[in-house]
Amino acid sequence: MKKYIGCDLGGTNLRAAIVDVEQGAVISQTSIPTLAREGHEAVMRRMAELILQVIQSAGMGKEGVGGIGIGVPGVLDLDKGETLFLPNLAGTWPHVPLRDRIKDLTGIPVSLLNDVRSITNGEWRFGAGRGVDTLAVFAIGTGIGGGLVLNGMLHLGIGGTGGELGHQIIDFNGPLCGCGNHGCLEAFASGPAIASMGMKAVAQGLTTQISELCANDLNRITPKLIAQAALAGDAVAQEIYELAGYYLGIAAANICATIGPRRIIIAGGVAQAGELLLAPIRRTVTSHVHVMPVAQVEIVSAALGNNAGVIGVACWAASMLP
Ligand SMILES: [Zn+2]
Repeated sequence: MKKYIGCDLGGTNLRAAIVDVEQGAVISQTSIPTLAREGHEAVMRRMAELILQVIQSAGMGKEGVGGIGIGVPGVLDLDKGETLFLPNLAGTWPHVPLRDRIKDLTGIPVSLLNDVRSITNGEWRFGAGRGVDTLAVFAIGTGIGGGLVLNGMLHLGIGGTGGELGHQIIDFNGPLCGCGNHGCLEAFASGPAIASMGMKAVAQGLTTQISELCANDLNRITPKLIAQAALAGDAVAQEIYELAGYYLGIAAANICATIGPRRIIIAGGVAQAGELLLAPIRRTVTSHVHVMPVAQVEIVSAALGNNAGVIGVACWAASMLP
């Protein structure tokens, strides 16, 4: 069986991994800074070099590689193989022919997929989503990404744009979201939204361990720091996770009513808070869904960590470029 390359085009780092798509295992990998400010052509050249380098350093030839999957943080046109809007990369990459350019530079066929749909595919095949045919993933970090598996297929929608669970509207009068809309889930429960709840609590002078943990420097407040305070019994910090979990639970309830998932997977850096976040999500879903057997929906943490995306996009490439 040929190996596949899983590649991650991140705002900070480019990563390329050789993946055994039958085992769901990363065999070897390497990463370099993206240096997005140098422009998309320079980034694509560096990505192609990185891919050829990881193949060579594993002692393989191109003939042993079935294809390359690239996970991309933003909006794509999968039919044309183009990027349309990558908000975290300089220049935002409108109509960049990423698929064909990497194919030309490496001589290996390429398939693109949104980065969180890549995570969704990885978790479904080899992680927390194993064994079920319908699931949803919320990936909570700087933003909130999402992905859906419906009846045994990764859901794509128009050009692969389906599954943006972080941009479902929770409150149409709510705060402005990075996408330009008001009241998206992302504006309420992303990493920065959770951090800003902590900043607000400290700025308001509430009695909370968050103040001591950040040494009264608001810029040091992160979801991780707030989780640390919550686990130490701090009521203000616990309330912040309750609220974030409530918003996520409302979104998860919408997904339960929409697709009847067997599992909902919480991924991304903020998911490291574990039960602090999962417990209020479960409670909210249970009390707000009455039209499907909500007790059967498992709400769990992701299992593959940072490897989910490269494994998932390599498996995607294997299914598209057999
Ligand atoms: Zn939005």
